[in-house]
Amino acid sequence: MVSFANMLTDTHTHLYSEAFNDDREAMMQRAFKAKINRFFIPAIDSGYTEAMYALESRYPEHVYLMMGLHPTSVKENYKEELAHVRAQFEKRSFYAVGEIGIDLYWDKSTLEIQKIAFREQIKLAKQYTLPIVIHCREAFDEIFDVLETEKDENLFGIFHCFTGTREQAERALSFNMKLGIGGVVTFKNGKIDRFLDQIPLTEIVLETDSPYLSPVPYRGKRNESSYLSLVCKKVATLYGISEEEVARITTENSKAVFGV
Ligand SMILES: [Zn+2]
Repeated sequence: MVSFANMLTDTHTHLYSEAFNDDREAMMQRAFKAKINRFFIPAIDSGYTEAMYALESRYPEHVYLMMGLHPTSVKENYKEELAHVRAQFEKRSFYAVGEIGIDLYWDKSTLEIQKIAFREQIKLAKQYTLPIVIHCREAFDEIFDVLETEKDENLFGIFHCFTGTREQAERALSFNMKLGIGGVVTFKNGKIDRFLDQIPLTEIVLETDSPYLSPVPYRGKRNESSYLSLVCKKVATLYGISEEEVARITTENSKAVFGV
């Protein structure tokens, strides 16, 4: 068993996913055992809102909810979906607007409305002084274009599941974003392991993105938050410091972004 004096923070995990419906409690216990005690929960669309609230009621001391419309859920009804997001913010508080952004892997035909939804949600984050959590898939240029026009002292957040080049990493940091590092850092062909140690550790947060993107040796299988310890271990090796130090610094970084 891992024995960190410091706890780990999973800054991006879909614990409400139906992938965990059969064993959610056991899965959570494995995460607690691995000293993962803080879970930041990105939204997808209105179809998951109730499940997110149920998760929060079950684990009120550990779960921190975000609210937003995921780019792959930006479709013909996106205006209604954005109205749903806004209605939630009027009702209660959240820790970030996310996950939001642009995804050109699944559907290029929705690029224009994805951009509109992204921009509108950035404005929402500024209105509530909250961080944004960015989902970027095959869309670095498009995302940077939007950030370039929206950047100001109120824009900050996380580039979730960062898988770009060193140049793209520097560019993301220049927009006041931290890099969300997950299972990809353990992949042989993941590439970010080649330059990550040149990025200050103060700019990095850890995440699983579970149930997706399992780290080695679980690559291709269902991911879960307890596997965050494998990400932490790999990051510690890359930076040549202890896992305890990585846990402490990345949790501090998550507090700096989310305010808790
Ligand atoms: Zn996600």
